[in-house]
Amino acid sequence: MENRKVRELLSAERIGKRVAELGAEIARDFEGKEVVLVGVLKGSFLFMADLARAIPSEHVLIDFLGLASYGDETRSSGVVQITADLTKPVEGKHVVVVEDIVDTGLTMAYLLENLRTRHPASVKLCALLHKPSRAVRQIPIDYLGFTIEDHFVIGYGLDYAQRFRNLPFIGVLE
Ligand code: 5GP
Repeated sequence: MENRKVRELLSAERIGKRVAELGAEIARDFEGKEVVLVGVLKGSFLFMADLARAIPSEHVLIDFLGLASYGDETRSSGVVQITADLTKPVEGKHVVVVEDIVDTGLTMAYLLENLRTRHPASVKLCALLHKPSRAVRQIPIDYLGFTIEDHFVIGYGLDYAQRFRNLPFIGVLE
């Protein structure tokens, strides 16, 4: 582990440009409407911070929830637990879930179904990364940053054993 090098996959500059585009798209789609950005902890914390600032609107609310997925470090089992819930009900609200990465899709399948039972006005998904080659459940991603190959990625919020979340870019451990 200590000898492993980090290879840059997406630079901070590329991420910044794409996040600005996603923010502009969301701002256009929700013009004049209130939208609740729901960040999935912990992986989305940097993405959320940049995305929220890229939406030039006075009608943006921010909330977070925590999910624990049963499985090992690199494989999701699809059995998901909400470890920290939203601070406010989303009934009647437009919700955009802000997620770091959609891999098998099992975590998002669970969360989107769970949120729909709370009767929001709408639920959309904004994911920074997607690994389509690993999909078990097909999850429509309304706002997508980048499609990537089947690498285990770290940085910009994403961890390996809780480390590397603070890297300003996205990299692959070699
Ligand atoms: P899924 O249920 O779609 O398989 O997994 C989603 C979750 O698994 C993500 O929110 C993330 O926490 C974790 N995950 C999936 N792929 C990666 C990866 O390449 N790197 C890291 N750090 N986490 C990942």
